[in-house]
Amino acid sequence: MRIPKALYSVMGPIPVERLDVIEHENPAVLVMGRWRAAERAVALSREVTDNAAAFQTVMHEWTHTMLDDSGVSQFLTREQTEAVCDAVAAVLTAAARAGVLIIRDAKE
Ligand SMILES: [Zn+2]
Repeated sequence: MRIPKALYSVMGPIPVERLDVIEHENPAVLVMGRWRAAERAVALSREVTDNAAAFQTVMHEWTHTMLDDSGVSQFLTREQTEAVCDAVAAVLTAAARAGVLIIRDAKE
């Protein structure tokens, strides 16, 4: 599965940026990805080397963008938001692995 360089959104393309490290308040925690709402960008850690894990991480972060852009996230707790993002990412990754979902880069 190809990791997209950018994702779609109603507010325009969202770049997917590979970062060496994504910081966390606890340095022992490996953060695989992050939706950076203020920058409207998705970060993907270079430490995620498994393709399926990287793809699923990007799908997880993309779901964050959908929940934020639609306003749904304001009605969810952090735990609920993460659960929804995990569920959607798992389904999208399964569909991509099965070859029925192909995500192409957004137009610039
Ligand atoms: Zn998340």
